[in-house]
Amino acid sequence: MVCDCIVVGCSNNNITNPDRRFFVIPVLRKNEDKRELSERRRHEWIRRINRKTINSDTVKSWQRVCSDHFILGGPAGLADFINLDWTPTVKIRYDLQCLSTTLSSDRYKQKQMRQHMKSTAQAV
Ligand SMILES: [Zn+2]
Repeated sequence: MVCDCIVVGCSNNNITNPDRRFFVIPVLRKNEDKRELSERRRHEWIRRINRKTINSDTVKSWQRVCSDHFILGGPAGLADFINLDWTPTVKIRYDLQCLSTTLSSDRYKQKQMRQHMKSTAQAV
């Protein structure tokens, strides 16, 4: 089975890049003391992958991130959350459509904030 990396701009797969390792998006742990941390980690992985079509509900077990996106070639353990390899951080690009939506949303919020500040200043 072909295993493709889902990070934007990465074309690694296990056929053409047998030297790479491929990691599943972290699953939610049912154990109560690990649940919150595993949820945070999963959310952060998905945020960094930043594909418009992938969220916590739509991510599939066959979708993988390759070893190129980790400093030491693989994810750190769940409890090691201060480790930079806790989430993929290397060669991370963004889905431009997703990014432009975010940017235009940010610009909209900034414009609203400026208008609010202006109207507040005029009222004083
Ligand atoms: Zn990759």
